Amino acid sequence: MSVLLRRSCRWCHLSRTEVVGLSQVDAPGRRCCSSVQVQGEVRVRFAPSPTGFLHLGGLRTALYNYIFAKKYAGAFILRLEDTDQSRLVLGAAESIEDMLEWAGVPPDESPRRGGPLGPYLQSHRLDLYSQTAQQLVRSGHAYYCFCSPQRLELLRKEALRSGQTPRYDNRCRHLRADQVQEKLDQGTSHVIRFRLEAGVESFQDLVFGWNRHEVAQVEGDPVVMKADGFPTYHLANIVDDHHMKISHVLRGSEWLISTSKHLLMYRALGWKPPTFGHLPLLMNKDGSKLSKRQGDIFIQSFQRDGVLPEALLDITTNCGSGFNTNQMGRRIDELISQFNPSKITTHSALLDLENLPEFNRIHLQQRIEDEDQCVLLIKDLQRQVREAHRAEIQEEEVLHEDYIRRVLHLRKGHITSLKELVSPNYSYLWVRPSFTSQQVAALTAEAPHIALLMLKLIEERGQQLTLDQLSTDLKRLSKQTKATKYREVMKLLRLALSGLQQGPSVAEMMVSLGPAEISHRFQKLLLLSETS
Ligand code: GLU
Repeated sequence: MSVLLRRSCRWCHLSRTEVVGLSQVDAPGRRCCSSVQVQGEVRVRFAPSPTGFLHLGGLRTALYNYIFAKKYAGAFILRLEDTDQSRLVLGAAESIEDMLEWAGVPPDESPRRGGPLGPYLQSHRLDLYSQTAQQLVRSGHAYYCFCSPQRLELLRKEALRSGQTPRYDNRCRHLRADQVQEKLDQGTSHVIRFRLEAGVESFQDLVFGWNRHEVAQVEGDPVVMKADGFPTYHLANIVDDHHMKISHVLRGSEWLISTSKHLLMYRALGWKPPTFGHLPLLMNKDGSKLSKRQGDIFIQSFQRDGVLPEALLDITTNCGSGFNTNQMGRRIDELISQFNPSKITTHSALLDLENLPEFNRIHLQQRIEDEDQCVLLIKDLQRQVREAHRAEIQEEEVLHEDYIRRVLHLRKGHITSLKELVSPNYSYLWVRPSFTSQQVAALTAEAPHIALLMLKLIEERGQQLTLDQLSTDLKRLSKQTKATKYREVMKLLRLALSGLQQGPSVAEMMVSLGPAEISHRFQKLLLLSETS
């Protein structure tokens, strides 16, 4: 049997003919139109379970919801789905909200911020779920189930033995009212199950197009209220989406097959469902599951490693979809303005974390160029320098704001994280280098002459040290040495300035350190070379 319906597409509102029936789904997996039009008040939610800490996959789902909300002047809601009390992880709930704030995708309504349709923690909404479950029982859409865990386990084992997928056999569906009452009166432990009906309607997913899963054919009736009085995910999720007035459910594609079940529940309750859009999963670049191979995909570990939140947002949207072009360096405002939901594809998003340093480099440069952000970077770097070099700093001047700003501007575009600047390669910026007269002698016998030329040069230039001028000066100066070539002169100067054989150009080192400090270092060179 099939029913012919006139329907309008949720996005383009073009009227179209759709055949909905038991055996036929209209163009499954096809989208009706290529442009998504969003109408009405937009309210979207990110609904993680605090059974673990926020990882990249979760952040990506939250981010698409955030972008969607901001693009359509709506609200982004954080709801914590903590109904599985046995799997809660201590500190995860707090940390998820902290990480969203840190990442720059703060919720408008959340457990911490509150909001008009809270509470936003499911364990604080238990009455609502039990009222709804009772409503379903009264209307005959749900029923009490008294099957013992032993019976269910037996069913499971038998199914597995005969090579079938375990499913509940719906036995308690058929209990008479007086039998149910007797068991309830005796206080028999029970759950409430939702009666799955055949005849699921197809729905149009924003990403996957027309979809329908005839759940009653493959599943037993699902539990909606557990024996401990807590709801299961399926009930709590739709009750909250309804009462929180969620307009669009944007969630991972692993939930696509549950949506038909949810729609049956909406229908049983007489509620209008939200629009669904299932986001393709985030995978490693070789297509393997993200959490399997990548140990450190937790947002806290990126934060600890000095990754900038905007670099994380950029990389997770770059590998996926929802934009007309892939382009590095987009910040949240650009992500919002360039977002195009009709460009979300059904392919998994392949993430190449090896590119993360490059994303970080680009975004660090952008931060340095923004004076307000730069001030924050300066404070952060001051703290890191103190932590890394506290005991060795001879000159407090290196902690001065102007000095650090100069270093940042000279190194931007070269460094991939702030942390790099406190690594041994850059310790010369904070601590005077140590080198020996033997090292000096091994490079050239003209070291005293070169040191004197440098000291004279610095005196002439005064405070006016610029990269261009110094590059010219250094070339000119190396012509004044008899037996030492330009390359050797540079090696010597680099040794005196940093104690290293590699690093930024000598001119850049000089500009960042400033005249007083370089004079000090060349005087030491003079001293050591005279004694060698
Ligand atoms: N609590 C579910 C999860 O952890 C939410 C799924 C949904 O967004 O509906 O993924």
